[in-house]
This record gives sequence, structure tokens and C-alpha cells, in this order.
Amino acid sequence: MEPDQQQRFNEWLRTKWHHGACPVCQTNSYTAGSAIFQMFEFAGGGLRLGGGPIYPVIPVVCANCGYTVFINAIVAGALAAPPLPTAPEEQPKGAEEAAADQQRDE
Ligand SMILES: [Zn+2]
Repeated sequence: MEPDQQQRFNEWLRTKWHHGACPVCQTNSYTAGSAIFQMFEFAGGGLRLGGGPIYPVIPVVCANCGYTVFINAIVAGALAAPPLPTAPEEQPKGAEEAAADQQRDE
């Protein structure tokens, strides 16, 4: 993670992490990941590139047993959300089309 991403994730951990004891081993010793990973949609065992959702996640791991929680990096604020797709801009009307509009209005 970039230093600013790590800083934002640390802030998320400080204000939002209230996990408590590990549900598997009952200890309370977690290690936060220092990298963002991406989860792809399952594609029948193959690898599908593009076209499906990708979840950027940061793992938080129980240091005793390995139980792992994945935190969404966008929701946690470590990573900026991708821009939403925008509608294509309306093209200016050609002279023929504008004349047809004018005739309809008359
Ligand atoms: Zn554990």
C-alpha cells in the first residue's frame, strides 16, 4: 500500500475495528495487512480478466491461528472508488436533423 493508503487504513482500524476475540481460537491478536489484494468473481476454475466485479480487500489476520478477515479497501477509505460510468455526450445535431426538427415544430 502507498503510505497515504496505509494511513487511511490505520485510521479505519483505529475507529472501526471492534472485532473482539478471534472466533476460531479466542485470542485477540490481529495483524493488519500492508497490501491491497483483489478478489475476482469465480469463473469455473479459470481466470477471467475484465468484465466482472473485482473487490479490493485488505486482510486482517489472527496472529495465533490464521483466521482472516477481508476489509473492503474502498469502503475503508484506503482506496478511492473508481469513477462511475457516464452517459455518452449528446452529439450536436446535423443540419438535416435540425431542419427536420424545425419542420415538425411548424
Ligand atoms: Zn485465531
